[in-house]
Amino acid sequence: MPTANAGACEACRKELPAWALSKCPICGHLTCHKCARQAYGREFCSDRCAHYFFRAEGDDEDESAET
Ligand SMILES: [Zn+2]
Ligand SMILES: [Zn+2]
Repeated sequence: MPTANAGACEACRKELPAWALSKCPICGHLTCHKCARQAYGREFCSDRCAHYFFRAEGDDEDESAET
């Protein structure tokens, strides 16, 4: 029986134990360390999610800057 904590990489579909997988902070997908995109000190499932994270971080400008 496989361990209950095992998961599968969303990218390469390889089944791995939980400790070998990273959870994408954007979409929650699990990826192995080989498939994960490392950016901004985090691991994302794809470049798209990394870019989304970067834009979300930088998208904090105040739109209603009227006095
Ligand atoms: Zn993988
Ligand atoms: Zn993702």
